[in-house]
Amino acid sequence: MKLVYSDDHREHAGAKEMRYDQMIPMSESPERMDIIMEALAKAGFKDVVSPQAHGLEVAHQIHDPAFVSFLQRCYPLWEKEFGLGGFATAYTFGMRSMGQSPNASVHSMLSCYTFDVCVPFVKGTWTAINSAKDVALTGAELIQNGEQAVFALCRPPGHHASQDLAGGYCYMNNAAIAAQSHLNAGSKRVAILDIDYHHGNGTQTIFYQRSDVFFASLHCRPEDEYPFLLGYATEVGEGDGKGYNLNLPMPRGTDYSVWEQALQTALQRIEAYNPDVLVVSLGVDTFADDPVGGFMLQSPDFTDIGSKIRTLNCPTQFVMEGGYSMSELGTNVANIIRGYSTKG
Ligand SMILES: [Zn+2]
Repeated sequence: MKLVYSDDHREHAGAKEMRYDQMIPMSESPERMDIIMEALAKAGFKDVVSPQAHGLEVAHQIHDPAFVSFLQRCYPLWEKEFGLGGFATAYTFGMRSMGQSPNASVHSMLSCYTFDVCVPFVKGTWTAINSAKDVALTGAELIQNGEQAVFALCRPPGHHASQDLAGGYCYMNNAAIAAQSHLNAGSKRVAILDIDYHHGNGTQTIFYQRSDVFFASLHCRPEDEYPFLLGYATEVGEGDGKGYNLNLPMPRGTDYSVWEQALQTALQRIEAYNPDVLVVSLGVDTFADDPVGGFMLQSPDFTDIGSKIRTLNCPTQFVMEGGYSMSELGTNVANIIRGYSTKG
């Protein structure tokens, strides 16, 4: 399987996040990619492709262009106001109810376009966001040119980002951009399977009223876990999208025997949808010892997940999302890719 990867993600580093009563270094760090790439190489996956530079056309089909412009301009505006160093983050949130739109102040933009304190902007953040988009689009094009499976090693991740909101380490939605690319290239139906521990609220929101993308998410239920407001089983899509959104929420502490049944349900629904392409939002923060997650999956389970996804027999683009256990992150990601690639 070809891997699409760029070192540009390293530009997005050095900020801190708030965890209850303290500021800690971001769990979503450049070291994550080093660990994953090393484990993939060790497992025999060494065919690394550099991304091609793409414009913003496909990103603008998924995201509000004003939002994308904010992502690009946020740090320079912040720097102009506060000088070099530190990182930009919102001071207030979500005053859209009276129809306010952001003014020229970077504070108003951060308030309008972010929904939590886990999307800091440093000097190189836009470079990394833009590169992750290129990684996703290059991966999509490899599939469109005949590859059976590709792994787009996007960082920062994307599944919490919606049309015009960044949050949860996510700025642009790489999986959604990949799905849109497949549709642009002639696919009629694209399925997105989100196996990250957290609900893919951004991806759900983007495609909620569309039937050309079926979204299935296995995640910790909103009563127990971030993002707390979305991810209920009752969210099935609306309008043209009704019946094309599947949420499989599970309580904190869920182990693989239960999770695996939810995966089978998702795979059956995806098979019935009969997609031309499958995009997998690949998070491994379901691992038992993940410091951010709360499920009980073990490393060998990820091999099984990969082989079960393979049974769909559909061109598959993996897109990297979460996973924060620095000791087993690489093994777990490599196990999924190995499980998928090994013919059972
Ligand atoms: Zn996650």
